[in-house]
Amino acid sequence: TGMRPVVTRFAPSPTGYLHIGGARTALFNWLFARANDGRFLLRIEDTDRARSTEDATRAIVEGLSWLGLDWDGKAISQAANADRHAQVARAMLDAGTAYRCFATQVEIQAFRDAAQAEGRSTLFRSPWRDADPATWPDRPYAVRVKAPREGETVIDDAVQGRVTIRNDQLDDMIVLRSDGTPVYMLAVVVDDHDMGVTHVIRGDDHLNNAARQLLIWRAMGWDEPVWAHIPLIHGEDGKKLSKRHGALGVEEYRAMGYPAAALRNYLARLGWSHGDDEFFTIDQAVEWFGLDGIGRAPARLDFKKLDNLSRRH
Ligand code: GLU
Repeated sequence: TGMRPVVTRFAPSPTGYLHIGGARTALFNWLFARANDGRFLLRIEDTDRARSTEDATRAIVEGLSWLGLDWDGKAISQAANADRHAQVARAMLDAGTAYRCFATQVEIQAFRDAAQAEGRSTLFRSPWRDADPATWPDRPYAVRVKAPREGETVIDDAVQGRVTIRNDQLDDMIVLRSDGTPVYMLAVVVDDHDMGVTHVIRGDDHLNNAARQLLIWRAMGWDEPVWAHIPLIHGEDGKKLSKRHGALGVEEYRAMGYPAAALRNYLARLGWSHGDDEFFTIDQAVEWFGLDGIGRAPARLDFKKLDNLSRRH
């Protein structure tokens, strides 16, 4: 990324309240931007019309504001960029890095059934990948990216290290559906590119997506961002967070009377460390923050720590 100014983003899907995992992701992105004189952007990933709500967007915006995580410029709506996403899919077609796939659902299912019966990989291999345009039928088509079939794709992750994916495990992902609508994976890449995002810092549940997103970055010949996939937060029992772990929404901590400064300090320590320092101000966190301080093991909730910090902030 050379001399490009640092740009990070928080990209929540507005399908529920702001939970502490999301708040921590936002905080890390905010800290990294502020530590590097960069910009921190907010993108609401509202392409799933059925599950996105205005209430959730409001809760996310309020939670971030309460935590003091101010973003630069206006919040961006991903759904508003759908035309641009589709335009990029067509640019990939023109460049030959994507192709028209006329396969029907029935044909794709038949391919998978046969592959399974024969003990082969069920990854769909479209017969249209190198088809002669003279053979194109007159019916709607999906746009698929031409994924490399040989070799490996390497993600140099600032937290996870070198992550290698065998290319024979990547499929020619659909980027534009046959009804002309862009898929989510394309939307993320196009928006990250258009927003000038230099560092993608997010939960490691998105690590597999990174390999697929890389296909699009490369197909477009765009400078890929630095990736930093942070281990998810676990409960005090060491298990993945779920409802039974109690308070998970930032709103709940606020209602319980925890000061924003204490929660911020606590969230910063969930997965990031600076020596043995437990208590610090936001200015100190900005001064100290770096991706090298993010650990590879999942962080654990520890309410005693939060209580201690609350007494000191
Ligand atoms: N919208 C995704 C989520 O809420 C995040 C996507 C991303 O950070 O790339 O999990």
